[in-house]
Amino acid sequence: MVIVLKSNIAQNSVKDLIENIRAKDLDVNVSEGHNHTIIGLIGDTSKILPEDLQSIDIVDSVKRISEPYKKANRKMHPEDSIINVAGKMVGEGMFHVIAGPCSVESEEQIIEVARDVQKSGATMLRGGAFKPRTSPYAFQGLHGEGIRLLLEAKKATGLPIVTEIMNASHLDLFDEVDVIQVGARNMQNFELLKELGHCSKPILLKRGLANTIEEWLMSAEYIMAGGNSNVILCERGIRTFETVTRNTLDISAVPVLKEKTHLPIIIDPSHATGKSALVAPLAKTAVAAGADGLMIEVHNNPAAALCDGAQSLNPKQFDELMADIKRRVEFEGKTM
Ligand code: PEP
Ligand code: MN
Repeated sequence: MVIVLKSNIAQNSVKDLIENIRAKDLDVNVSEGHNHTIIGLIGDTSKILPEDLQSIDIVDSVKRISEPYKKANRKMHPEDSIINVAGKMVGEGMFHVIAGPCSVESEEQIIEVARDVQKSGATMLRGGAFKPRTSPYAFQGLHGEGIRLLLEAKKATGLPIVTEIMNASHLDLFDEVDVIQVGARNMQNFELLKELGHCSKPILLKRGLANTIEEWLMSAEYIMAGGNSNVILCERGIRTFETVTRNTLDISAVPVLKEKTHLPIIIDPSHATGKSALVAPLAKTAVAAGADGLMIEVHNNPAAALCDGAQSLNPKQFDELMADIKRRVEFEGKTM
């Protein structure tokens, strides 16, 4: 971290600042120019907030040189991480498709969809039991019963299950869940992230509606700092001025994250677009961009879905897409 001081300031306040920095177990490198003095901080600056330094009256500007996330940082861990999900490896060289309805609605629905997506080549089953809905009057999910039904679908197909947690007090219900999803709305629920850091289950961490890549990686860091390094990132579109699509898929997040972190990254084209017709082109783009997988909403009867029907593929559409995705994954030299 580098601090640029204002010009014409009292030398004793510079001395005070340097002493304060040294008291935080950091060393300094002071460089005096004609107009400005620059202080370079040497050591672990992850606990120092640039905003705090910026508020000191003799400070002109502060610039971070190294990223504040350590465990999620590729610089600290150059090899790609491979996350073990019930014996299936997620990460470098492997490509996974997590498919299923937005919400678990009934036993027949989830088992039928699970069987269909498995036939088409999906490697994991998704389904929401706790639903973060904008309206309190909309379907909120079947809660514990939804998880029980997902486990029935897992028994019927062998597919590992992925489902969202909204409250750490529900963790007991997730004992047999294979991947715990943190949804976009909870990406910065730091108390929830800390709790998930204390379990060893893989966590699918979705990007917040309006969060930067650095904020997203800091949320991954929360989970990893607690001791759980099994984090998979999921880009699901961000809020922009565009209204034609539900969100705007930030496809550049894939190559950017490949540079910044060793964690696997998957793309959710369903929530990114909100429109079933746009799911296939963006899913194909995700493979080409180097994503490690996809999360796609599939419903046996999208028109009657209790949640997100407009963006859900029917099993036939999903099957056609998967035939295409398999060819592209092979072209990229990955295995499904
Ligand atoms: C979901 O996957 O069901 C979901 C609610 O997604 P997001 O958190 O990305 O909106
Ligand atoms: Mn949904």
